[in-house]
Amino acid sequence: MKKCIYCGSEIDDNCVIDFCERCGKKVWGGRMFRAIVENMENARRNGDLCNQRVDEVKQSSPSFNR
Ligand SMILES: [Zn+2]
Repeated sequence: MKKCIYCGSEIDDNCVIDFCERCGKKVWGGRMFRAIVENMENARRNGDLCNQRVDEVKQSSPSFNR
């Protein structure tokens, strides 16, 4: 279980940020907090897609089959 870096309360391991929603909103404000979370989630999604693509390329690459 991850913990909030500000208040130490437990947060979801899947959470892209290292702090809880309550502290995030306190530090950045509601709108900015949402923007940060969205950016982090997009970045992670793009990273996951890139990793997947690399694996697919490796598996389907002709040079690996010869
Ligand atoms: Zn917190």
